[in-house]
Amino acid sequence: MKNYVIAKTKNGNKYIHDIKLKKTIYCPPLLYHIIEEIEKGGDIDKLLNNDGETTTIGENESVLKSEIDYYYRKYLLMKDNGFFSKTNPKESQFALLNPEMIKQSIANSPILTFETTDRCNLSCKYCGYGKFYSNFDRRENKDINTESATCLLRYLQKLWNSSLNFSHDSVKYIGFYGGEPLLNFSFIQQIIKFMKTFKLKHNRICYSITTNGLLLDKYMDFLVENDFNILISLDGDEKNNGYRIFKNGKPAYQAVLKNISALKKKHPEYFEKKVYFNSVVHNKNSVNEIYEYFKEHFDKFPSISPLNTTGVDINKKKEFWNTYSNITESLYNSEDYSNIEKEMFINLPNIQSLTTFLHHETDLSFKNYNEAFYNQDNAKTYPTGTCMPFSKKIFMTVNGKIMVCERIGHEHAFGMVSPEAVSINYDSISDFYNRQFQKLEKQCNACYNANSCIQCIFHLSLSDENPVCPGFMNREDYSKMVSSYIDYLEQRPHLYNKIFKEVWVH
Ligand code: SF4
Ligand code: SF4
Repeated sequence: MKNYVIAKTKNGNKYIHDIKLKKTIYCPPLLYHIIEEIEKGGDIDKLLNNDGETTTIGENESVLKSEIDYYYRKYLLMKDNGFFSKTNPKESQFALLNPEMIKQSIANSPILTFETTDRCNLSCKYCGYGKFYSNFDRRENKDINTESATCLLRYLQKLWNSSLNFSHDSVKYIGFYGGEPLLNFSFIQQIIKFMKTFKLKHNRICYSITTNGLLLDKYMDFLVENDFNILISLDGDEKNNGYRIFKNGKPAYQAVLKNISALKKKHPEYFEKKVYFNSVVHNKNSVNEIYEYFKEHFDKFPSISPLNTTGVDINKKKEFWNTYSNITESLYNSEDYSNIEKEMFINLPNIQSLTTFLHHETDLSFKNYNEAFYNQDNAKTYPTGTCMPFSKKIFMTVNGKIMVCERIGHEHAFGMVSPEAVSINYDSISDFYNRQFQKLEKQCNACYNANSCIQCIFHLSLSDENPVCPGFMNREDYSKMVSSYIDYLEQRPHLYNKIFKEVWVH
């Protein structure tokens, strides 16, 4: 497997992108010609040992022999410095997880989210717990058990205060998620009260809530007093928000807007600093409409998400794909594309992908100080783009399941919590991940996109013995992808600096 590709841009430029070295450099035409000849197994000696002052390349192009010599020396110099290497795809480049790593990960996990209730006062058509999906626990109008939640907090307190926690001075977020979490307000109150007695040696606690906004009029003062980050789900104006409806089918838009406006009026500074929005893109809105709406009404820009394509019920696929809308296509169809890109920046999925590319495929970005100081050339990573279990968050469901996040099917619980005890079997978690990784190892070893992979194992068909990854890239696919990123940067060079200066990737 060759560890480099040649990227070509619409301006006619070529670049060598080396995956092992994580370097991209401009490739002058003669150097490209030499590389191409070598790749084709052409007669490079004939080119170099020509006696005349000039030599002919390509379709009768005459070039100075001294120039060919110069670029060949350049090629050799690059080769001596690690460019153009090869890897045997049969030799695994990947490491395995062990139980201690997972324990360490939970001790450093930045977010604990409670599925506060599975009740909801809306019946959104595309809801992740609604008719399109079949991979979640039945919704039974259940509230989370407060004693179980505090039991989990006490368990985590020991880990957070232990030497396994090295994320000193950072914030631990306690999140409330639903259903609609404000329907179980007494749980939120009790947890905040409990947290006032909670001693953490190394970390501060902050709160966050994801809400549909319908009960904000009742509870906004409490949320403001306790300095919550509030994330409100809203898809735009009345028409755009048309899938967010009450159980009787009536639109929820006006009721939500009234509450958001009241929050903005009563707590304007708080609204500016601590209130965020998320919009789902579907066939009733577009990126352009969302942008215009939020700019005009709140002078803010929401994060934008697509409909979740994992776990779609086989009988609902047709209706699902009719409702689905591709965010990037919607963005490129916008009238005011460059302005949207400038203002929404990292909220846009295409800028997020470019950021992933720049952070994973260049040697200019480090996850931590250790990575900056120690040579990572031979450091092994894990197959796929799945996060280390619990490294992003710990999610507790109303049924007491402990999960690694809320975006995966409820069948993937890795522990249980009751009012008396927390049970997490770190050995079986690492066995599970390693088993899945081993199934994918062969594909990942041969995949050119392994450095920037964002494929989560939980979004693959895990019951298959040989799951096929839809994100697999051969050399040609990968070269096209790198070409498209570099082409994008050639058109918008300011983005390079902006991303490295303003975006912090965890
Ligand atoms: S979707 Fe997968 S990779 Fe993303 S946070 Fe959840 S478990 Fe981790
Ligand atoms: S895209 Fe798929 S095949 Fe490629 S590294 Fe990621 S998980 Fe493996």
